Parts: sequence; structure tokens; C-alpha cells
Amino acid sequence: MTKAEKRKLVKGAVRREAREAQRLASRIWELAEPPFQESGSSTLLAAYLADRGFRVKFPFAGVPTAFRATSGKGKPVIGFLGEYDALPDCGLKKGTYGHGCGHNLLGAGSAAGAAATVHLLAAHGLSGRVVYWGCPAEEVLAGKVYMAREGAFRGLDACLTWHPGNRTAVNAAGGSALDSLILEFHGRTAHGASAHGGRSALDAAVLMDVAVNDLREHVPDNVRIHCVIRDGGKAPNVVPEYARIWYYVRARDRAEVDEITRRLVLCAKGAATATETRVRVKKLTAVYSRLRNGVLAGLLRDNLVLLGAPRVTQADREQVEALGKEPDFQKGVRKDIPDAAGKASSDEDNVSWLAPLGCFGVACVPNGVRGHNREYTAQSNLPFAHRGMLRAAEALAGVAWELLTDAKLLRRVRAEFTKGVKGFKYDPLIPKNQRPPLDGV
Ligand SMILES: [Zn+2]
Repeated sequence: MTKAEKRKLVKGAVRREAREAQRLASRIWELAEPPFQESGSSTLLAAYLADRGFRVKFPFAGVPTAFRATSGKGKPVIGFLGEYDALPDCGLKKGTYGHGCGHNLLGAGSAAGAAATVHLLAAHGLSGRVVYWGCPAEEVLAGKVYMAREGAFRGLDACLTWHPGNRTAVNAAGGSALDSLILEFHGRTAHGASAHGGRSALDAAVLMDVAVNDLREHVPDNVRIHCVIRDGGKAPNVVPEYARIWYYVRARDRAEVDEITRRLVLCAKGAATATETRVRVKKLTAVYSRLRNGVLAGLLRDNLVLLGAPRVTQADREQVEALGKEPDFQKGVRKDIPDAAGKASSDEDNVSWLAPLGCFGVACVPNGVRGHNREYTAQSNLPFAHRGMLRAAEALAGVAWELLTDAKLLRRVRAEFTKGVKGFKYDPLIPKNQRPPLDGV
């Protein structure tokens, strides 16, 4: 098959899904549901795939807004990851949730890519299965972690995903490994003006963070530690008997995160000793660094180059300007494959240890639009964003097509993965019976 034929093939398959995918992306954008509460968004995506003959298991293993949708028979098995959660304070109205990370596009784009791949399988009478994993709560880095603990993402020959962004490029290196830790301090309340009998849990939390600030001086440069105090008492004249502080520890890999977390817990214990309070540590979720797959990354790059970055129209420029931003669109596809891991983290990197993972970004917003911000939300439901999403669906279907039709190529992808996981056993990193944080943190 020539390159032109290949392009025509995947574009034709995605075109059949384009209208419905755009409708889905817009409806999920309007719903803008918090992590683990995406009942409307997950239902829409599952129904879309069920309409196309996918067999849907919903919910998946006790995670209410997670699901699995499967189509086809036999081998190979290609997975697609979809996300659909929104972010707090990113809604266009202050104080509301909004799609400041574009997961409305991510979930719908991956679903359209999966559906298009099924069209290709059927049209060519090929054997193989397509599995779409509906993954909630990426923004708290938890959905895939709890799903993986319950057996998700096994038995895939390869797994594909993408993320909207401001440029079209392969993401081969993934992000930082991470621990998300809740530290709860328990003290003794007292009248604020006569507090000698009190033991302030807030003091413990603050003292812990003072110690952590000093810890920052003695960690590798790439380490990031950040926190918020989620509970620090209610009034100055009541000594807080309870305080809760939530940390992210990010580092190069699991070993480095484990070591920093060990020292962070010492800071907590020291603060508890000093304030005569008790501390309880809970690991809410935890993320691996990415197991890279160079063969898959190269294949993704070639498909992106073949398809090109999404086209920009005069109307796109005007819409961006109307929102007060520069219409500075990144043109073209980045041809090199960046080697440095990102500072941020994603729970998709856990999947990379269970199946060869291929991940890329597609320009859906112009440069200069801040992520995790309502500026991004405003941009993530425009025609340009939808065009980017459909380009992602084409790239997903294009790569899946090659993996389904080229056994030698798939063997190379698998061989690199097998070598990478030699001697590795997947540790879910969270306790066996711990419930996902379904009601928020
Ligand atoms: Zn995201």
C-alpha cells in the first residue's frame, strides 16, 4: 500500500465517525465532570461504542465510571485509552469544573480512533480485537492505577493513546514517577485563648511543611514536591484537632520517589513528635515512570508525519483572537522524538509496564494557552480543537492498522517491551482493598 493509499484509508474510516465524535467532545465539554464522578461522560462514550457493536463491561471492577469496550475476535489485541474528567476552577464560570486539559477531546478522539479501526478490520476481513479502556480520574492520577490493580490493561499486544496540546509530536518519554500522599494529623482541641491543654493538628501540618521546605535543598534537581492544606481547622479560637495536608512527590523513577517519600514521612513524624499529635499516612495513588517503546514511537511519528498537523483556517484565527489570545498555531509535525521525560505525571505511564504504550500529542490549541486553566477550557471546544481530535483519531487508526497487518512490526514492538519488563513484576503501588477516592480528596 502506498502512503497516499494509507492516508486515504484511515481518513475514510475516521470520516464516518467525525460528526458523532465532535458531538461527543462537545457534550463531554458541557458536562465537565470531576474525577470519578464522570457518570454522564462515561455513559455517553460507552453508548457510542456499544452502538458500533462493541461489547461493553460497565462499570469495570468496582470503579463506577470506568469501563471496557471490546470489538472483534482473535489476535492481535490493540488497546486505546480514553479519559474524560475535568479540572476544578477551570470552568468558564469561576468555581466550576472545566475541561482545562482537553480530556473531552481525548476521550472522544480515542473512541473515534477505536471505532475507525474496527471499520478497517471489518472492511478487510482481518482478525484482531480492539479494546477501548474508559479511564476516569486522570487528573488525580488515579483512574488507571485502580483499574490496573483490578486487572485492566493485561493481554494487549500494544496500547495507544494521545493528548491534546499545542503541538503535534510523539511523546515517547512520558512524565515523572509520583506518589500522592495524604497526611492526617490528630491533636487535641482547646479554647484558642487558653490553649495550654490543646495540641494543634494545624501546627503539625505547618511544621511538617517547614521541614519539607528544608528537605527540598537535599534532593536531586528534578524532584518536585508540592502540597495543599485541605483541612486546617475552622476558626482561630478553636485549636484544630484535625488537619490534613496533601502532597505530590515527583521524581525520576519509582526508586527515587520511594526514597523521597520515606524522608517526607520522617518530616511528618518529626512534626507529630514536636507537637504531640498523631499522624496517619495514606498513599492515595502512585505512578511509575514510562517504560519507553522506541519502535512504537517511531511508528507514531511516521503516521503523524504522513497525516500532518491539523489545518488552520482564517475562522480559527478569528475565534482565538475573540478569546483574547494570539492565533499563534504551531505548524507542522515535530519530526524528532523528544528524549527527556516531562516534569508532570500521568497514570498512563503505569500502563506502559503492562503493554507496549504509544503516546502522542496533537495541536488542538494555539501556543500561549495555559494548561489547567480556564483559557484552555475556552479553546477546547472550538472547531480547531475538534479538527485536532479527528487528526488524533486518524493517527490512532493508522498505527493500529499497521500493527494489525504487519506481524513482523508487531513482533519488534513486543520484543522491545518484553526486554524492558524482564524481571519486573507489576506492583499496584496502592493497598489491596483501598477504595478509590470516589468522593474527592
Ligand atoms: Zn490531561
